[in-house]
Amino acid sequence: MSEQQNFDVVVIGAGPAGYHAAIRAAQLGLKTACIDAALGKDGKPALGGTCLRVGCIPSKALLDSSRQFWNMGHLFGDHGISFKDAKMDVGQMVGRKDKIVKQFTGGIAMLFKANKVSPFYGFGTLHKGNVVKVKQHDGSEVELKGTNVVIAAGSDSIELPFAKFDGDTVVDNVGALDFTEVPKRLGVIGAGVIGLELGSVWKRLGAEVTILEAMPEFLATADAEVAKTAAKEFKKQGLDIKLGAKVSKAEVKSKGKSKEVHLTYSDKDGEQSMVVDKLLVAVGRKAASKGLLADGTGVKLDDRGRIEVDEHCHTGVDGVWAVGDCVRGPMLAHKGFEEGIAVAELIAGLPGHVNLDTVPWVIYTEPEIAWVGQTEQQLKEEGTPYKTGSFPFAAIGRAVAMGEPAGFVKVIAHAETDRVLGLHLVGVGVSELVHEGVLTMEFKGSADDLARICHAHPTLSEAIHDAAMAVDKRAIHKAN
Ligand code: FAD
Ligand code: NAD
Repeated sequence: MSEQQNFDVVVIGAGPAGYHAAIRAAQLGLKTACIDAALGKDGKPALGGTCLRVGCIPSKALLDSSRQFWNMGHLFGDHGISFKDAKMDVGQMVGRKDKIVKQFTGGIAMLFKANKVSPFYGFGTLHKGNVVKVKQHDGSEVELKGTNVVIAAGSDSIELPFAKFDGDTVVDNVGALDFTEVPKRLGVIGAGVIGLELGSVWKRLGAEVTILEAMPEFLATADAEVAKTAAKEFKKQGLDIKLGAKVSKAEVKSKGKSKEVHLTYSDKDGEQSMVVDKLLVAVGRKAASKGLLADGTGVKLDDRGRIEVDEHCHTGVDGVWAVGDCVRGPMLAHKGFEEGIAVAELIAGLPGHVNLDTVPWVIYTEPEIAWVGQTEQQLKEEGTPYKTGSFPFAAIGRAVAMGEPAGFVKVIAHAETDRVLGLHLVGVGVSELVHEGVLTMEFKGSADDLARICHAHPTLSEAIHDAAMAVDKRAIHKAN
């Protein structure tokens, strides 16, 4: 063991939450170290966490490749564009994705260098007294002492006891981002964000995709009308989503040189069976806390294994903070970004705060789904009086010109104060549009504010303008 090294801030984990905390702390003049255990596909250390290696970025790369392919068969004809024998080279598509991942994981290493963050490559365990022991990949150990320690250990896929990941036939997101060919039949357990996004990728490339969802309701966290519209569009695309389907068995059997998975599940009609070539299990993620905390640190875990923190991401142990997927709140990269920055600023004696009520959600399917704030269901439950205004993309010139008329925008405002309480969207490009809602809510704006803001014509954002006007039944481009 080498001598102990001292830092103002030691960050465990270089995912979105950790690398933001580390870079911001270094910018503020704090001597900062950041430890990460992950290796890339090439076996070399890769910074950036789940998001850059096997999450947000690689999934969006494949979503984009597959969307181009799908559009050739489903949208181009309308524009008068014809072609012969479109083919998808899966190896090329995955290779493109890997190149993007490498560019961005390498980018974090460069940012660390530029900001003078000291990287340590290995597994870190927090001990009493803010000491972090790091087992490096070469087997050596270093000991770091931080005046402050920021835990940003992220999350791992939840595994079902009867469907263990084997990296090939039964996979989580990691395997489903790296299939070497389009599976003929892809089974997915869980119609959540990963199931819908990665299910869409392989569906667009020609797989028969069946998604088994245990809950009787589709996308219960989204606005009910948004979920209904999205479900209708996914059905048109041939995604087979079976609700109320409880899987009890997943047996991998050999079939000639290949393998297949025999699934047993029950739904309202009783026991069912299904055979698929690959199975993606996407039933949620859990905080990564295994091996992270030695005895006696005082850091507590909650009933879901997440690190307990207060509203400032402080663990209650002097100088120990935790951010990102390993603490309460939505498991989203941008939520981790903001928490990382806020904690670094708090450590430096500046104000730092994250408003969890205005964290936007985006599901990158076609159509995209996005929202910020409360749904009608939630407002009804808590008894808040509200009014709504909706506007369909089918009446938006730009959307129709693009051949993408599906979906709508809904503005929800308080019935008495007119303050915007939520913005819910399903349609083309809504991953960008949702930020109008975030801004309005952050500035405590009203539906009338949104309605009085000049929106460029012709743009998709006009749907928000008209939806805001519809809140007071004065939309111009539809009957109120
Ligand atoms: P992570 O990104 O998980 O990073 C934690 C890092 O810490 C990892 O590199 C890990 O190796 C390291 N680590 C853990 N423990 C230790 C230890 N003891 N010692 C050293 N290192 C350690 N979110 C979005 O907002 N938008 C999206 O489009 C999106 N798409 C996604 C798609 C997929 C397929 C998946 C799986 C997730 C997606 N997410 C998306 C979620 C997003 O990836 C996570 O919310 C985000 O990565 C969490 O950031 P984090 O820094 O908390 O943790
Ligand atoms: P999820 O929580 O979004 O969805 C899991 C789904 O699986 C739920 O609908 C749940 O009811 C269902 N389920 C749970 N157990 C089941 C079972 N035994 N059988 C059948 N269905 C079951 O989780 P996910 O899709 O694994 O994604 C994990 C997290 O990663 C997301 O919640 C999100 O925070 C993050 N993520 C975000 C994005 C994005 O922002 N676009 C993309 C991917 C992942």
